[in-house]
Amino acid sequence: MIDSLMQRLGVAPEQYRDGDIAVATPIDGSEIGRVRTATAQEIDTAIANAQRAFEAWRQVPAPRRGELVRLFGDQLRRHKEDLGALVTWECGKILQEGLGEVQEMIDICDLAVGQSRQLYGLTIASERPGHHMRESWHPLGPIGLITAFNFPVAPWAWNAALALVCGDSLLWKPSEKTPLTALACQALLERAMAEFGDDAPQYLSQVIIGERAAGEQLTDDARVPLISATGSTRMGREVGPRVAARFGRSILELGGNNAMILTPSADLDMAVRAILFSAVGTAGQRCTTLRRLVVHRSIKEEVVARLKQAYTGISIGDPLEGNLIGPLIDRQAFDTMQVVLTQAREQGANVFGGQRQLAEQYPEGYYVAPAIVEVEGQSDLVRHETFAPILYVIDYEALDEAIALNNDVPQGLSSCIFTTDVREAETFVSAVGSDCGIANVNIGPSGAEIGGAFGGEKETGGGRESGSDVWKSYMRRQTNTVNYSRELPLAQGIKFD
Ligand code: NAD
Repeated sequence: MIDSLMQRLGVAPEQYRDGDIAVATPIDGSEIGRVRTATAQEIDTAIANAQRAFEAWRQVPAPRRGELVRLFGDQLRRHKEDLGALVTWECGKILQEGLGEVQEMIDICDLAVGQSRQLYGLTIASERPGHHMRESWHPLGPIGLITAFNFPVAPWAWNAALALVCGDSLLWKPSEKTPLTALACQALLERAMAEFGDDAPQYLSQVIIGERAAGEQLTDDARVPLISATGSTRMGREVGPRVAARFGRSILELGGNNAMILTPSADLDMAVRAILFSAVGTAGQRCTTLRRLVVHRSIKEEVVARLKQAYTGISIGDPLEGNLIGPLIDRQAFDTMQVVLTQAREQGANVFGGQRQLAEQYPEGYYVAPAIVEVEGQSDLVRHETFAPILYVIDYEALDEAIALNNDVPQGLSSCIFTTDVREAETFVSAVGSDCGIANVNIGPSGAEIGGAFGGEKETGGGRESGSDVWKSYMRRQTNTVNYSRELPLAQGIKFD
């Protein structure tokens, strides 16, 4: 199965059949490939090659660069089923979500193609006669991309599609748990480059296979002016200061601890559906997964009862077979979830679900029943992101209290409120409301569209990716003052003669 997928996606067998890193599918733990860690010397050469590619690519007009991204989007449309299935094989998310991830790549390509004709700056009034000022945006350089296992392809595409139209070259260090999808994306991009013609330089995009050390080498190299890193807060805490130490820039997309405030006026049918998708979808392994339900005391009992019923009926199993919950990525993720549930019980919480499922059928696949954990207030356990389907339920009495709970975690990625009261909704999205990068009304915290800027505050890292004016992150800003007069007046009226 993997061989035929890889063949259709254009990845040669020698790229994924041999090497020191074994790639297992979370579906049953079996090995589906082996890839080889790049040596430090190879990474060094890749960076030098990326710099040369950048020097050529930056001279290609931006709308023409957009044409390459359009062709890449076409490849993705053509191979959506295959790439979506490979995402499912490699990271275990259900096929619908694997396909959704590829659709997100297609969407960002469309956005980037349009953006390639809109890389605009300002014209600014000059105080001096016969002068004009303007702002120009220029390509930045080779961009280092470090990505996480749980969204193995879309976050790369958010960065890559924009960086390419902005005139940058790409160096991608995918998660060591999901390198096959990276090789497939690279193969599809290379097909688009072949169709595009000679304007696309060799080494415009490269994949660097490796674990943490490979990411560290990219992070430390001054030839890479921007590191865009998606992953845990632990990783960002290491990457951020290292990039800053060499005065590089970083976009950090780190962990979340996302809440929903459920008010007494909410449409509970809608809310329960939203909770289900955002708390148990992707087996709780989204950065935007709903992890905390802050529910009004008057409706808590009813909501928890409805959730328990919905949780009991949900299908758990092979993510390729139409189930709604697939496996956790690996045994370590399962063990961590169990440790956290044990600690919650010890702290007096009421725990529903959380047990291993299908262990006999899949001894090496880690399927779990999603858990609902009723807690009193937010302990350190609740304030920590556990990357598994655990939904903490906390009650509140007044909206201020609920908003304070929403904000009282170290992370600041996504948040939402369910209410039909316009005052509550507007307060939540106001300056005194949610402190997160994403704040929604009457939809869950996960499943963002690419038109908006995606990212979060505090320990989520402060980075933004995707739409809005995010393209500016992949360019350098230059202020130009041009004197077209025959005089040389100085700014601020300074006389120097
Ligand atoms: P991880 O931090 O273990 O690894 C992410 C990537 O960073 C991998 O490629 C890894 O090899 C690399 N890496 C790890 N340490 C590094 C270091 N010191 N220097 C350079 N590179 C290093 O994360 P994971 O387990 O793959 O993914 C899950 C985490 O990612 C969760 O915390 C989730 O919330 C977060 N995430 C965030 C977003 C977002 O947009 N905010 C999106 C997806 C996932």
